[in-house]
Amino acid sequence: MAGAGGAMMAGNNRPRVVYLGGLGRSGTTLLERLLGELPGVCSVGEVVHLWQRGIAEAERCGCGEPLPGCPFWRKVGEIAFGGWDQVDVRRVAELRHTVDRNRCVPRLAAPALNPSFRRLLDEYTDYYVRIYAGIADASGCPVVVDSSKHASLAFCLRRRAELDLRVVHVVRDSRAVAFSWTRRVSRPESASDPFMLTYPPTKTAWLWNLQNGALQLLAMEGVPTLRVRYEDLVTSPTATLAKVADFAGMAADGAAMNFMGSDANTNWADLRAAHTASGNPMRFTTGKITIRMDDRWQTAMPASQRRRVTALTLPLLARYGYAGRAE
Ligand SMILES: [Zn+2]
Repeated sequence: MAGAGGAMMAGNNRPRVVYLGGLGRSGTTLLERLLGELPGVCSVGEVVHLWQRGIAEAERCGCGEPLPGCPFWRKVGEIAFGGWDQVDVRRVAELRHTVDRNRCVPRLAAPALNPSFRRLLDEYTDYYVRIYAGIADASGCPVVVDSSKHASLAFCLRRRAELDLRVVHVVRDSRAVAFSWTRRVSRPESASDPFMLTYPPTKTAWLWNLQNGALQLLAMEGVPTLRVRYEDLVTSPTATLAKVADFAGMAADGAAMNFMGSDANTNWADLRAAHTASGNPMRFTTGKITIRMDDRWQTAMPASQRRRVTALTLPLLARYGYAGRAE
């Protein structure tokens, strides 16, 4: 969270929600941390997982406190719901299971919804409308960054006129993403799930097509969307961040970008603690970090896996400008 900027929510001002969409391991955590350093921007991690992991299981906030005890989130819970104990986390999970899944995307993309589905969708998205307004109010920031990533949630949220929804569609080379999902990554915030999930490369390839295809469909349906490539973010972080900030109407000129720089061809950013719920363990990192491309897949990924993932994802790889790279 970065400074109030004097732009409190008031009257009919809609919270501007910058939603980072894409398949996991595509650089969304890095992007949300960088955005969170800009004035008037509050990056809150993956709200989709806040209900179960943050509230019910009391996993740690990015600041290190168990989420329900973190002063920032306590204030958000008070404003949005009159306290977290007023939130029926099981009901949120039930609703999510019914309306917010990959398989719901065709239905959510249709122009009209049947009334019973619409009621459940409204009940589900009410939780989000309230929490985003609570975050904007508690932080004093007019822009909330949610890195929930799932296309299905973005489809749900776009039905709510109370939100000024803007989607940043983050893509990364499918081979790099598939390789990353084969590797074990520890989750320091959880005793019960000490490692992040792993997926076989063919499953990742399928999910990569699905998430990216769905986010393109969302853009075609008129939701303001900016596509950002992970590879551009890590090679030109300042220029890429400025582009995202411009798209989302955030101030990113002059001193606002002083937390980033480069020395001798190395790009860096200086990050403060952020009140993020759930997400990649990088959300706990503070201080000066080096921003560099993780391209281990190019040497460490077995050739047979690489060929399979390339074949399965070729149409979108070509569309995003990756097809000419090492196959
Ligand atoms: Zn916190």
